[in-house]
Amino acid sequence: MNIHEYQAKALLREYGAPVSDGRVVMKADEAKSKAGEMDGPLWVVKAQIHAGGRGKGSFKEESAGEKGGVRLAKSVEEAADEAKKMLGRTLVTHQTGPAGKQVNRVYIEAGSDIEKELYLALLVDRVTSRVSFVCSTEGGMDIEEVAASTPEKILTFSVDPATGYQAFHGRRIAFSLGLEGGQIKQCVKLMGQLYRAFVERDMEMLEINPLIVTDSGDLKVLDAKLGFDSNALYRQSDVANLRDETEEDPKELEASKYDLNYIALDGEIGCMVNGAGLAMATMDIIKLYGAEPANFLDVGGGATKEKVTEAFKIITSDDNVKGILVNIFGGIMRCDVIAEGVIAAVKEVGLQVPLVVRLEGTNVEQGKEIIAGSGLNVIAADNLSDGAEKIVKAVKG
Ligand code: GDP
Ligand code: MG
Repeated sequence: MNIHEYQAKALLREYGAPVSDGRVVMKADEAKSKAGEMDGPLWVVKAQIHAGGRGKGSFKEESAGEKGGVRLAKSVEEAADEAKKMLGRTLVTHQTGPAGKQVNRVYIEAGSDIEKELYLALLVDRVTSRVSFVCSTEGGMDIEEVAASTPEKILTFSVDPATGYQAFHGRRIAFSLGLEGGQIKQCVKLMGQLYRAFVERDMEMLEINPLIVTDSGDLKVLDAKLGFDSNALYRQSDVANLRDETEEDPKELEASKYDLNYIALDGEIGCMVNGAGLAMATMDIIKLYGAEPANFLDVGGGATKEKVTEAFKIITSDDNVKGILVNIFGGIMRCDVIAEGVIAAVKEVGLQVPLVVRLEGTNVEQGKEIIAGSGLNVIAADNLSDGAEKIVKAVKG
């Protein structure tokens, strides 16, 4: 689960991290009074969406002279004006995709004078099963670009969980970032605060880009992106309360209500599968036959008819879906339950696209009978590759 920048900064402030004073604005008429709560001479107005690259992004129908989702202002009036201009509009960045994201919240912050922009992240490294620090002197820009063209400018190391964070970790980061004098001490302290926040709040990712050195030589967290382990939210209720559902894909949100593992993708073949491994294999084989999956969907082991019905409805609600492949290997999941769910869903929402069903395993005969007896125009498949071939052929001709 992700949260907004202003929420991330409030959380890091609790751990003592240096962040600027700021106010979130949700209604245009609050902008001026909120901006007025901070002293100048510089204000920064920042669109709050769950995507990075805001500074270099652009608004839809942007007028000449306008520039992206992070703007500097020299007076309260100007800051309020920029905030009003952003609210309600759609910001497109390289992370939002071409559709962009609507800006419903804006953060007005006391502006900083920047001497240097650095990069810092904490993440769970799956290879070492440890928390890793990643840092670079090349902050502010795309770290992906730095990683691709000048990987030697990125330092990565992991922290032994037996010792946890130690001052030498912080010094190592400070030296690699070229920090000097009192900055080294600040860095050791800040890294400890970030590490503690990361572990205590069950984060998956913490990215500060940029971490800056101000013109007075101090470290400051200028941007913050936090991602949390969804499986740990049961014990992080204050984090869970920060969830902004308007930032999530509506289909994914609907799926999460029914405990379905669903991820929307860009292709044209909707997939309903049981088991994450089989779902991955189904997506692979669809690609092998020359089409792209419209989603990943694992209905899980013990899915009920209602759950299957909802899953099917979510797939058909996607306009990109030009065909559906149901691929079930019945173990705990019974094929007759899947068949009933599919038929119930089709009765409710209709079926505008070709549907290929491949059933195997527990109660397969009953499942096939239910589908055959339903009078629906379903194409039966015998195995995984047969199913993929048939749905791709039905969609692409
Ligand atoms: P992102 O584009 O979504 O990553 O948003 P950031 O918060 O990282 O802001 C983008 C860029 O705006 C930063 O890299 C800075 O160069 C600039 N910026 C953000 N805040 C300030 C500020 O307080 N003062 C100045 N001078 N520049 C800022
Ligand atoms: Mg940034």
